[in-house]
Amino acid sequence: MGTLSKEARPAATHVRPFLLSPRGLALLGVQTFFALATPLFGATVWTLGKAGAVLKALANGRITGPLLAPFLDLTADFVTYNRGIFATVFVAPASIAWDAVEALRDWMFDLQMPPVGDATLRKQIHAARVANVQRQIRELVTAGATRLCTARPGFLAMSMKAGIYKKHWGGVEVHALRDIIEIDEEREVVRVEPGCNMGRLSRELIKKGWSLQVLPELDDLTVGGLINGFGIETSSHKYGLFQHTCTAFEIVLPNGDVVYCDKDHEPDLFATIPWSHGTIGFLVAAEIKLIRAKPYVQIEYIPCHTQQECVEVFERASRDNGNDFVEELMYSKEMGVVMIGKLASSVPKGATLNVLSRWYKPWFFTHVASFLKRPAGAPHAVEYLPLRDYYHRHTRSIFWEIQDIVPSGNSWWYRYFIAWIGTPKISILKMTTTGKLKVLWETKHVAQDLLVPISTLKESLDLFHDELEVYPLWLCPMRMLSPPKNLLAERGEAPAVAVLNSDEPAYPPQEVTTPTGSLTPPPPAEQLFVDVGAYGVPKSQKFHYERSLQVIEKFVRGVQGYQALYADTMMSRGEFREMFDHQLYDKVRERFNCGERLPEIWDKVNKNARA
Ligand SMILES: Cc1cc2nc3c(=O)[nH]c(=O)nc-3n(C[C@H](O)[C@H](O)[C@H](O)COP(=O)(O)OP(=O)(O)OC[C@H]3O[C@@H](n4cnc5c(N)ncnc54)[C@H](O)[C@@H]3O)c2cc1C
Repeated sequence: MGTLSKEARPAATHVRPFLLSPRGLALLGVQTFFALATPLFGATVWTLGKAGAVLKALANGRITGPLLAPFLDLTADFVTYNRGIFATVFVAPASIAWDAVEALRDWMFDLQMPPVGDATLRKQIHAARVANVQRQIRELVTAGATRLCTARPGFLAMSMKAGIYKKHWGGVEVHALRDIIEIDEEREVVRVEPGCNMGRLSRELIKKGWSLQVLPELDDLTVGGLINGFGIETSSHKYGLFQHTCTAFEIVLPNGDVVYCDKDHEPDLFATIPWSHGTIGFLVAAEIKLIRAKPYVQIEYIPCHTQQECVEVFERASRDNGNDFVEELMYSKEMGVVMIGKLASSVPKGATLNVLSRWYKPWFFTHVASFLKRPAGAPHAVEYLPLRDYYHRHTRSIFWEIQDIVPSGNSWWYRYFIAWIGTPKISILKMTTTGKLKVLWETKHVAQDLLVPISTLKESLDLFHDELEVYPLWLCPMRMLSPPKNLLAERGEAPAVAVLNSDEPAYPPQEVTTPTGSLTPPPPAEQLFVDVGAYGVPKSQKFHYERSLQVIEKFVRGVQGYQALYADTMMSRGEFREMFDHQLYDKVRERFNCGERLPEIWDKVNKNARA
């Protein structure tokens, strides 16, 4: 037998250097880790699952015993009333282990792939994953599933609530689609799968000198959730919501067909996917606009000591296109700090650099509050944050929710000696929520984002104070943009132009023709909205978890605002349809035969659909 010619052995000559390269060795190491750890991990999950089922049965009284019942009560009480200790000793280390495994998995994927610029192999893998979603849908339908939803377990979602329907409807696994498919530097877009989260995306993009126009705050927020739900960040005064920065979607319809849509191709579908909560189809890829990143953000902190000043300074900053980021934290009805951020290439000599991600740094909202103590007339404080630290500035304190979970978490001794353990993940906190805690959470706590026109900000602040009195209150400006031009032409309307500071020649107004779907485009004068975010334990004597929310929802409907649907909604179906324009949505659902198989949004987000 003759030997193979040199040309006939390309694979062998290719593989040897790769295996011996640092990349090859790293890949071998990670694969070995997963090969060994997977059965161990599976066995642990299985054991924990069984133990959980036994505990649940015990707690429900199906297995009782004179010794066990008091023990279980004590354990539940400990987890409920000593949440800080439990979160520090169990949840935080478990969160680190979880993040580490996920990071290793992502690293393994990237090691096997060519760089994201060279997308051929990534596209092939993505296509195989999409085919798998199609196959699942067709099999579920053939097997008689009447309703479909994503199979992503409820505890993984950021929303504090999980859909009860997940237990009964046919689940389609889309969470394996979690990678970046391509960064197209020429067109300045990234094509990404829906399960990719903001932590991963920001790390990958910033490394390459890019960022998203709107990069929402928490690491675990996913592209799919931010599009089908909603997504906002402090650059939304310029670019609109997360959905407005998307240029195309790839959807698997309830009959298993795949459709690509953008503003020219299937524009109705493109316009109605945002806020649709998976009730039109399953998102399997999105194309999102990029901007050039800079390594730092310069932040100017402007303390305000009257409500009028809080509103005026915030509105002025939000209308100025020269500001890359604008946000305000209100600490009482009258006091707040407006923050104006600008991307910066370097930290000037003598300026303050605040590396906020260091574990011993105070929670960001407490740091911001400290600027209220500056003497009147003192120059505004200015500091620089590394870009990623800025994007994820509220991640470590989960905005300010952490203060109710780990009350000592901001004391010096906790920060220096314990905080390095890490931040508890929302998913694990949700998994370990006891029944008592759920009731407390539901009746004594709010987490709501309401989007209102900026002209109603003062009125909104008064109402929030009256009904809730939750501080800090998050104010984030956002622009409500027009639907695609071709849809507008059908309605005989012209596209709205972002009304920004026209005196600033470096930042010309942008004509924006991205989808709004269920959100009625307002007249240009009312384009600027504010997300008023209330997270925490209300102190208002008037607060009642159902009545107060109904009062606020009625107000928001009255000013043609919107409620973010990750949170509880008390609205009836009729009220919900009044808030969200269903005209195009109904037309699209009918066209694609969504019918019963994908129920309406309200069926998924109303209070009774979630636990
Ligand atoms: C503590 C907390 C902090 C938050 N912070 C922010 C913030 O900083 N910025 C911000 O913008 N928002 C924030 N949110 C709200 C968040 O935007 C929403 O929860 C959002 O929907 C994204 O969450 P998720 O990635 O967990 O998606 P999920 O909750 O998993 O999904 C949202 C909806 O989209 C549907 N969906 C998801 N993927 C797909 C898919 N591939 N195909 C079809 N349907 C799909 C789901 O079924 C669900 O109905 C926060 C929420 C909480 C509770």
